[in-house]
Amino acid sequence: MTISFNVKNTDGFARSGLLETAHGKIKTPVFMPVGTYGAVKGIQPDDLKYIGAEIILSNTYHLMERPGKDIIRDIGGLRKFMNWDGPILTDSGGFQVMSLQNMAKIDNDGVTFKSHIDGSLIRLTPKDSIEMQNALDSTITMVFDECTSYPVKKDLALYSMNLSMKWAKLCRDNFIDKNGYGLFGIVQGSTFNDLRQISSENLINIGFDGYAIGGLAVGEGHEVMINTLKSSINYLPINKPRYLMGVGYPKDIIEAVNLGVDMFDCVIPTRSGRTGKVFTKNGTLNIKNSRHKNDPRSIEEGCSCKICSNNISRAYLYHLFNTKEMLGATYLTIHNINHYIQLMSTLRKAINNNNFNEASKFLLNEYKKGDIEIYN
Ligand SMILES: [Zn+2]
Repeated sequence: MTISFNVKNTDGFARSGLLETAHGKIKTPVFMPVGTYGAVKGIQPDDLKYIGAEIILSNTYHLMERPGKDIIRDIGGLRKFMNWDGPILTDSGGFQVMSLQNMAKIDNDGVTFKSHIDGSLIRLTPKDSIEMQNALDSTITMVFDECTSYPVKKDLALYSMNLSMKWAKLCRDNFIDKNGYGLFGIVQGSTFNDLRQISSENLINIGFDGYAIGGLAVGEGHEVMINTLKSSINYLPINKPRYLMGVGYPKDIIEAVNLGVDMFDCVIPTRSGRTGKVFTKNGTLNIKNSRHKNDPRSIEEGCSCKICSNNISRAYLYHLFNTKEMLGATYLTIHNINHYIQLMSTLRKAINNNNFNEASKFLLNEYKKGDIEIYN
């Protein structure tokens, strides 16, 4: 048996479920904090556990370059290497190779590119990506795919999607099924509904443990993303987890859950925390703004995070950023990840209580009350 997934309740298209893996259970819809280099920036694994994170994501490409496959495999996999005992999902490296490397040359069998560390020539094929993720001992492995940028002409999107489907089959052939481990396929096809349908059917024929929606959140904007999702998500099987890659802001997540997405990852809560931005139920705040200079209040009244429940003041957080103390970034990251994890918990409860429509409208309205600089 690979991973198992059971839908617990549905409310409209939104669904709550349970994903059971070799390394732990995950309640869905779920948000996965991102640990690009095998560390969720600025926050320790025990703090992630305390907050309630049930799975984290890491990046194959970055770990392949540093420290390399052999070091992590010999230590016993990425979970042991980084001291995180829960499940991990690793991306395939495809997106990073293509977004970071101007020098990437794609052919039918893989990608050749220059290392962004030392300029040496590296070859990455679907088989290499699966082997790398196997060395990382990933709970959930992603297929190696090609992600088109936006906008893209249809013939190019078709070519790229066909290549991704060929690679998806090679990934399936090279993946070794293990108890509680899974392999996810990735739907491509840019914003073209018919291409997404063909891509979904191709992947279902090959057979995966979950299906990701790729090629979105690449500059098309919220509305186009949601519309593409709306017209193409129903091509995916209802009994397997659906993962919208690289998304997003709370508004994106709420609307995607409404359409039936189960899994999310994004650097937004961590990156925002490092740059002084915090999420609250009433929108966002920039803690570096001088209006917080002598404010004795915590970031958010009633917030369950360690920072707010210890009544750490906005004045102190302002001071930490003003003096470039690294603790400031850690504190805001803890608050922001807690915010995202609590948001998912609220959405799950609403689905289980069959009042998702009402609850999501309320949440979206509340978000609009604060600063809107990073809302959209
Ligand atoms: Zn807080």
